Amino acid sequence: MKRRDFLKKAAGGGLLAASAVTAAPAIAAPRKRFNWKLVTTWPPNFPIFMEGVQRFADDIEKMSRRRFRISVFAGGELIPAMQTFDAVSQGTVQMGHGAAYYWAGKVPAAQFFTAVPFGMNAQGMNAWLYNGGGLNLWRDVYRPFNIVPFPMGNTGVQMGGWFRKEINSIADLKGLKMRIPGLGGKVMAKAGANPVLLAGGEIYTALERGTIDATEWVGPYHDQRLGLYRAAKNYYYPGWHEPGPTLELSVNSKAWAELPEEYQLMVENAAAAANTWMLSEFEAKNLQALQSLKQQHKVNVLEFPPDVIRELRRLTAEVLEDEAKKDRIFREVYQAYRSFNSSNTAWNEISEAAYANALTV
Ligand code: CA
Repeated sequence: MKRRDFLKKAAGGGLLAASAVTAAPAIAAPRKRFNWKLVTTWPPNFPIFMEGVQRFADDIEKMSRRRFRISVFAGGELIPAMQTFDAVSQGTVQMGHGAAYYWAGKVPAAQFFTAVPFGMNAQGMNAWLYNGGGLNLWRDVYRPFNIVPFPMGNTGVQMGGWFRKEINSIADLKGLKMRIPGLGGKVMAKAGANPVLLAGGEIYTALERGTIDATEWVGPYHDQRLGLYRAAKNYYYPGWHEPGPTLELSVNSKAWAELPEEYQLMVENAAAAANTWMLSEFEAKNLQALQSLKQQHKVNVLEFPPDVIRELRRLTAEVLEDEAKKDRIFREVYQAYRSFNSSNTAWNEISEAAYANALTV
């Protein structure tokens, strides 16, 4: 039978036509429309971070043929930036974007899902989260808050920060007022510094007026835009405190359960695409910004002395042990993180680290 005749017969009725009709709904797009809100912890027009979130929303709108639309809000536009976690948890909005370590006050263990000083870099974090059980653990930790988290963005290794005076020994950290959040701040406190918490918009003025002596922020691309080189000239590396911070997408668990499977898959895949896109943007743009800081703005780009790094690493181990004693969930996640990190490091020694060495011998 020729194909055309066959189709004609099938269309004329009978079993074939009936089965074609019943099969159709399985491949049709869900009819229900979804209009969701996504709030972030980022300032409006914050490059890479807000761009990545908007790309995520645009991808889903296109993939769903405009049936699933997500409106993106910068911090403070709909709710204050630091209420993102609560807004998603309570279902005031369906989605949020930020960094898990912002919620350390409520969930100390959340810090492992962003960055740990001297811990895993972006590649290690992705391996742990996607393929090493980390994401399941993250979901367990957030379940009591009705939030389903996804990795969505990574800055890569950050810079160590801006210092008004040079750091030549651990003694130079004593009494130093530095804007540095999270576990990194706790390590600095152990080293005798005074860690201070300031939002992005307050950093420049505090450093310029001498209210603080030092600050960390992100990396050359973002730090240049904040103008920090006008307030301090010594720019240190590496960012030992944030070796590859993962950013998070949070989804209210009730809203998530109401999404058709197709749309859940779109969220999962668009978040993974944004995760890669943001890291790639940082990798592509940071060096150019660093060169302009050096050449146009006469910034001293300096590496922390080995003694300082060694001492900070020793103090980090103490801080992690202290925190593990205080909180059961922190302790459990710490054990899982440490175990993955140690095998990741062992593999890294004969892969990434050996390769990096091979370029310098
Ligand atoms: Ca930072």
